[in-house]
Amino acid sequence: MSDSSVKVRRLSDLQTLVSLSKRRGFVFQSSEIYGGLNSCWDYGPLGSQMKLNVKLAWWKAMTRRPNMCGIDASILMHPMVWKASGHVDGFSDPLVDCKDCKTRFRSDNTDSYINEKKCPECGSKNLSEPRNFNLMFKTLMGPVDDAGSVIYLRPETAQGHFVNFLNCQTTTRYKVPFGIAAIGKSFRNEITPGNFVFRTREFEQMEMQYFVRPGEDEKAFEMWKEIRWSFYSKFGIRKENLRFHPHGPTELAHYAKAAFDVQYLFPMGWSELEGIHNRSNFDLTQHTKFSGKSLEYFDEAAKEKFIPYVIETAVGCDRLFLAFLCDAYREEVTVDEKGQEDVRVVLGLHPEISPVKIAVMPLSKKEELMNIANKVYSQLSEDFAAQYDESGSIGKRYRRQDEVGTPYCATVDFDTINDQCVTVRHRDTMKQDRVKISELNDYVRKGMKEF
Ligand code: ATP
Repeated sequence: MSDSSVKVRRLSDLQTLVSLSKRRGFVFQSSEIYGGLNSCWDYGPLGSQMKLNVKLAWWKAMTRRPNMCGIDASILMHPMVWKASGHVDGFSDPLVDCKDCKTRFRSDNTDSYINEKKCPECGSKNLSEPRNFNLMFKTLMGPVDDAGSVIYLRPETAQGHFVNFLNCQTTTRYKVPFGIAAIGKSFRNEITPGNFVFRTREFEQMEMQYFVRPGEDEKAFEMWKEIRWSFYSKFGIRKENLRFHPHGPTELAHYAKAAFDVQYLFPMGWSELEGIHNRSNFDLTQHTKFSGKSLEYFDEAAKEKFIPYVIETAVGCDRLFLAFLCDAYREEVTVDEKGQEDVRVVLGLHPEISPVKIAVMPLSKKEELMNIANKVYSQLSEDFAAQYDESGSIGKRYRRQDEVGTPYCATVDFDTINDQCVTVRHRDTMKQDRVKISELNDYVRKGMKEF
């Protein structure tokens, strides 16, 4: 990209990504052959690998620190959990029904309703009163279909951390402050899902709860803000697309003492990517009250008991996946003498996030070259997600890999037979290096580290 005649176009609409995702196997509409299921998406061959990389990057960043551990709690929890957390009574949006056109809409964010008490679809004023609609999905546990078997799909992973607070503390023997991290599915019956995988009804969350002595919560809150910011920098999210948004008093959740959103500039505008909350001792106090089991922590050094405060960081895996794609997408445009545009589509993903790290390509379909290329592919596959590609011109094959964010391509050519080297071509600079096959894995490993 050193060539100044190359113009770079960034992503301007989500549809471009939706198309690329379908065409290249990142994300498909769920149940597509039946016409699809609204707001549900399936991660394809490349998407599932990339999503795993996103989770691994987060997991490593959160758990490979002193006094941090992980947990994998179940989606179905005792119904009392959601009473204690406030979700049964408070996790709702106000909804209005239009009695004429039957449209259902939120009364708190629909302009035509707020200003004129009119239906946003047909303009009718024949409307129901706002009614609270709980966002939790209900299901039945066991064979009996009665009110006693009602159970919820969790709307957040955090409650698994709270109810296991003492289990984790005693088994790890950590002293406060310590933290619990988890990755898992959550479900919310969102009224207005949309914007691809940005807001869906089934999604994955990556949440961390950090338990601290009361009075040390504000310092810990600042510490986690910095840690989370540096995560985004490390993985190359462009600074101009990221900002903190502090919650004003009217935005604060019922449990929160302070909260900041990390917002990303998505094509539809600045939107929440991650929430960083000071949840005070609300949750542990509530669970103590509702379960009758004390969740107090005993500080041996100070010989005193207290209920810890909690700093929470919560990011949606699917939303982060989308932010990575939006941020990485670029079109490099060159115009030739005849005014013809050539567009190179590149996903400039951080190599740890890229679904494929290296593609191996025999220059031609000569058996000798294909045999070597297959061996190189096997060697690389021991350490990395690699791909083997033998069809089409080399230029076309490079472009295919650029479009899915593969940082390296290794070409096996006729010289390889004699010198046992391959040509490694870099996605971003398009620079080429001749590398010994025996040193190729180390070369890629080093390149990924230094990216
Ligand atoms: P929003 O205001 O966007 O609905 P929220 O404030 O309700 O989000 P939290 O409860 O703080 O979200 O959840 C933490 C994170 O989980 C969010 O920052 C977001 O990344 C993710 N998340 C929440 N709801 C959804 C959803 N319906 N689809 C995808 N990700 C979600």
